[in-house]
Amino acid sequence: MNNEEWKSKLTPEQYYILREKGTERPFTGALLMNKDKGIYNCAGCGSELFTDEMKFDSHCGWPSFDKEIAGGKINRIIDKTHGMIRTEITCANCGGHLGHIFDDGPTETSERYCVNSISLAFVPVQSENISEEIILGGGCFWCVEAVYLNLKGVLKVESGYSGGHVKNPAYREVCNGTTGHAEVIKLTYNPAILTLQNILKVFFTVHDPTTLNRQGNDVGTQYRSVIYFKSEAQQQTSMDIINQLNKEKVFANSIVTEVKAFETFYKAEEDHQNYYNLHKSEAYCQIIISPKLEKLKKVFKESLL
Ligand SMILES: [Zn+2]
Repeated sequence: MNNEEWKSKLTPEQYYILREKGTERPFTGALLMNKDKGIYNCAGCGSELFTDEMKFDSHCGWPSFDKEIAGGKINRIIDKTHGMIRTEITCANCGGHLGHIFDDGPTETSERYCVNSISLAFVPVQSENISEEIILGGGCFWCVEAVYLNLKGVLKVESGYSGGHVKNPAYREVCNGTTGHAEVIKLTYNPAILTLQNILKVFFTVHDPTTLNRQGNDVGTQYRSVIYFKSEAQQQTSMDIINQLNKEKVFANSIVTEVKAFETFYKAEEDHQNYYNLHKSEAYCQIIISPKLEKLKKVFKESLL
């Protein structure tokens, strides 16, 4: 969009802040004191940036957040204007100026996203049930995690281990296949934006659910295809989709995906989190993960991404 188009789309105040990197006067923003449940979107393009759970009262005069919605939706840029060195934050989708980020936050992330109210569009969520979780295993967790980080409505993706008998397993133990655990992701999502049906359609698009204890060259029970549900509704939806895929013979062989009640999830070591985005240039990512993301884009086009 060029400047003229932005001018016609945005109010003059929004244009000044989002496109000319302006700053609203402190303690004047409409969202400063907002404590309602919902999602904070970019006012320029609607990209989801923060949830109400990430907001805190920083007393600095602007809405403040300690985290962002997963998936690289916010860019960080060094800003040397006004005789200071600061880190500007912008919307990764439309480039709109949001504010700045500082490392003096009071929560465990130590981050303070200081954002103009005018840069944000708040979408309240009616239901109290703003987020749900499900555990999915479809081979190497790096690959599954990378796929879900790209979906609208995904709030958090954590790689870890589930379904086994060893407490607090280490990556190396799980790789040996002796812990009973599968490599899984714990997906936190907003069901008002991303339905479980769509989550599972993506799941069955990006891995092979018909090979027992195996994904490609990765062989072992740790690579089994699993869904660990947290509610009867999730169990029902999972079984319905599997039955439908089997009935329509979408795959040459029957689906062997395990569908079981969730018991425990152990988060994997930090260096296994967000692996793809941090190691894009590695051969494994290029060979295994990039084609999955391409396939996902082809199948779902703009509808989920
Ligand atoms: Zn935007």
